Amino acid sequence: MTEELDNICEECKKKDESVSQNLIKHSYKICDSCYTSKTIFPV
Ligand SMILES: [Zn+2]
Repeated sequence: MTEELDNICEECKKKDESVSQNLIKHSYKICDSCYTSKTIFPV
């Protein structure tokens, strides 16, 4: 499980600590900035 948490955002491919937290909280492997844009502009 921990091996999959590489903290690399699937949207922008940047490494960020928030990625693993958002994965746990929202089941999205994305960083905070991508999550915010996803929330404002839902696909
Ligand atoms: Zn991102």
